Amino acid sequence: MTRNQIAQEIIDTCLEMTKLGLNQGTAGNVSARFEDGLLITPTGIEYEKLTPDHIVFVSNQGEFEEGKIPSSEWAFHLTCYNAREDCHAVVHNHAINATAVSILNRPIQAIHYMVAASGTTEIPCVPYATFGSPELADYVDGGIRQSKSILLQHHGMITVGENLKKALWLAHETEVLAELYLKCAAIQANVPVLPDQEMNHVLDKFKTYGLRVEK
Ligand SMILES: [Zn+2]
Repeated sequence: MTRNQIAQEIIDTCLEMTKLGLNQGTAGNVSARFEDGLLITPTGIEYEKLTPDHIVFVSNQGEFEEGKIPSSEWAFHLTCYNAREDCHAVVHNHAINATAVSILNRPIQAIHYMVAASGTTEIPCVPYATFGSPELADYVDGGIRQSKSILLQHHGMITVGENLKKALWLAHETEVLAELYLKCAAIQANVPVLPDQEMNHVLDKFKTYGLRVEK
């Protein structure tokens, strides 16, 4: 794919993220691996006004393309690509339910078999650090190596995928799981979870059959 095509796909992913109700204002940001770095949404431009020319290239050394300013969260996007070879797209947002669980500083445990879509048995919550800081990128590094979906304490969520469609799909799935978790936790503090053995069985099945991402 050309740079322009990837840039357009990033914009389409942002617009789809809004449609899915995952965005709070312009808080979300989206990137895709490109050459020796990544392409990412810029800071401070509404998604509806984005054109492929607004999308910013950031090198693996953290250098930006001249005359453009990437999202303030570019550092943890870069961390995700460095941490996982299987990751070619990153989606970040402050979706309400996922962020609510992050405020409680809890992982999303194995309340439903779809938690295994993250590639592990629970979606972890990484500690709080100021947005855009190297500390936050360090915490993200630890979490994203374990799971393709993570919560950021008092902040939001990050999901990664082989492509933008899969990363966005997992973000939506994470928000649904967070909503389920909150509904259950409101009634019963100790939310029932699936046994490890069953979660490992589901993880194996997902590996064998792959996950169908409907589009
Ligand atoms: Zn954020």
